Amino acid sequence: LGLLGGGQLGRMFCMAAQSLGYKVVVLDPGEEGPAGSVADRHVRSDYLDPAALAELAALAGAATTEFENVPAAALAFLARTARVCPAAESVAIAQDRIREKTFLADHGFSVAPYAVLASEDDARRVDASLCPGIVKSARMGYDGKGQIRVATQGDVAAAWIAMGVIPCIIERLVPLAAEVSVVVARTEHGDTTAWPVAENHHRDGILDVSIVPARVPAALAAEARDVATAVAAKLDYRGVLCVEMFVTTQGRLIINEIAPRPHNSGHYSIDACVTSQFEQQARVLAGLPLGDPRLHEPAVMVNLLGDLWFTAAGAAPREPDWTRVLVHPAAKLHLYGKAEPRRGRKMGHVTCLAPTLAGALAMARAIRRD
Ligand code: ATP
Ligand code: MG
Repeated sequence: LGLLGGGQLGRMFCMAAQSLGYKVVVLDPGEEGPAGSVADRHVRSDYLDPAALAELAALAGAATTEFENVPAAALAFLARTARVCPAAESVAIAQDRIREKTFLADHGFSVAPYAVLASEDDARRVDASLCPGIVKSARMGYDGKGQIRVATQGDVAAAWIAMGVIPCIIERLVPLAAEVSVVVARTEHGDTTAWPVAENHHRDGILDVSIVPARVPAALAAEARDVATAVAAKLDYRGVLCVEMFVTTQGRLIINEIAPRPHNSGHYSIDACVTSQFEQQARVLAGLPLGDPRLHEPAVMVNLLGDLWFTAAGAAPREPDWTRVLVHPAAKLHLYGKAEPRRGRKMGHVTCLAPTLAGALAMARAIRRD
């Protein structure tokens, strides 16, 4: 199996695929990263290097990606000889907020009111009803990067310029009751499974904690899974897809964005479900039947950021003492093998498992000491 990208999502994909007996070849420009260090083979090169793509194509009968900013052309190249999941077209939609919003709105899905900002003129003429809002770059945004909040219409042009005079959208700020996500997997035959709904909490624009099952009414949870399943169907999607949604203070569901790959909010599935999102990615890729996404028991996933390595100001980074996590027998620690801790960098995660959600939350609180 071939994989484009070398981060932690790729690492967990490699491990799941290897458990099923596959060998994985990773194409990634970086040095031995999280995925490269566990892959059976690491082709170190740019994603668009024809020789590297040809090498991958010669080795792999099927290929996938672990991040949405992989050039669509690389997937299209591989699709000439290999099964590619997701299709280049799905990735192209998800990697561009303008295409993504347009696709969702055109297919009748609820999104926050938005407008495209392609020029300073667009920015100056934005409808006042879109403020307060958020200007988001059309491409390459992640973990809250590439976003500027604007209070009034008069701030939009300055924000667009500050963003670097690139295609953007402006989106109205939605009053949020909660943020949830649903990961789904869909085969080329249209078979689809959806994992339970995750309730997501962010800190500084980065996912901090996912709580499963989400503490939302059962009808809303069912609707969220239906929406995610419908998005996958409309995309004629092949592979694993995450649909991030807002629950508004009025109890409505709005799609925030989609990710054409396993998602941080689905990491709990490794320890808490019969089949993980990564195993499912390998199954779809290999043309195998889908596994059962059923939840064994409630789970709370806590991200471990590089900040944890920097305890004293000015001191050298120091790896946390993980026994603090491991003294909890039902806390599952995952570290991504990143050599260099940085603030805001995802270094690992812990999944807390318990027979009740209250129990899992208490364990997470004890580990975080909050
Ligand atoms: P990701 O790491 O999920 O890729 P991102 O950088 O692509 O993040 P978004 O998911 O668009 O960014 O936004 C990050 C967070 O900002 C959201 O999870 C939400 O908390 C907040 N946010 C974004 N858009 C809105 C909105 N229209 N109204 C209210 N809050 C919003
Ligand atoms: Mg997001």
